[in-house]
Amino acid sequence: MTETRSCESPHVEYPPVPNGLDYLDSVVDHLSGEPSPRDLKYAVLHLQAAVEVLLKARLRQEHWSLVFRDPGRADLSRFEAGDFESCGTAETITRLRSIIGINLPKGPVDEIHQLAKWRNALQHYGLTAPAIAVESRAARILDFLLLFISEHLLPGLTGEDAMFAGETEFNIRSRLTDMRSVIKARMDRIRPLLARDTERTVQCPECGQLAVVVASQGPIHCRFCSEVFISAVKFADFYVGVALGKEWEPGFEDPAAWPLRQCPQCGEAAMVLEAETVAAPGRHTPLCFSCGTVMSGD
Ligand SMILES: [Zn+2]
Ligand SMILES: [Zn+2]
Repeated sequence: MTETRSCESPHVEYPPVPNGLDYLDSVVDHLSGEPSPRDLKYAVLHLQAAVEVLLKARLRQEHWSLVFRDPGRADLSRFEAGDFESCGTAETITRLRSIIGINLPKGPVDEIHQLAKWRNALQHYGLTAPAIAVESRAARILDFLLLFISEHLLPGLTGEDAMFAGETEFNIRSRLTDMRSVIKARMDRIRPLLARDTERTVQCPECGQLAVVVASQGPIHCRFCSEVFISAVKFADFYVGVALGKEWEPGFEDPAAWPLRQCPQCGEAAMVLEAETVAAPGRHTPLCFSCGTVMSGD
């Protein structure tokens, strides 16, 4: 339980677990009914905040110094005042795994990294994502976080904190069921449409579903969230940045590290060296998103 400290001006610090749950509650609120673009924006921002707060809460349960960027220089008075630089999400995940020994599965961790990339992309390019894309991405991360709360956070709570967290977690979980069934129904509907093109079907950077058939007739679009992408080249770039999670801030870019090349067949800069298709999950397929050529060897 975190203390509430007061000095000249009252300073209220929310204990991390209820605070994280409050963010999750807000995500579900913003996504229910017919979300407006503003609802979607806050759903994404609050989801990101929930991830950070909840994962760090587990580090805090282990020891408060672990949330400092540099735990070797942690200082209790600065921690209590909330005046310190904390570690980032990627580092938090590393510490949960290596220091506490929590076996965080790769799938949801990839989703979390994608969420951060995606959020940056939305802010940077002023993109607006389709509602179903936000719901689909949020539902998977919510699933992971709720499990994380019950397995790794609730056991460390006592008394009222535990009761409140348990009730809220249960409440969010039941509201999530509706969202999940909408997503499942839609995926069931499009699955037969994708069955013929598994070699050319890749993940949609918007909704995170394996539902974009590249090198097909007409504009590239997602069969799940219906997002239409301007061109194969633009889509390939977006895919590398978000679905593959590569860094794209100018200055950090190493052209050799950016797995996108000019296609020897069609000449478009749409050859994604590390594409992951439905036909070959977990493997890198050098696939041209414009003409469908698969490059063999290097
Ligand atoms: Zn999509
Ligand atoms: Zn090509």
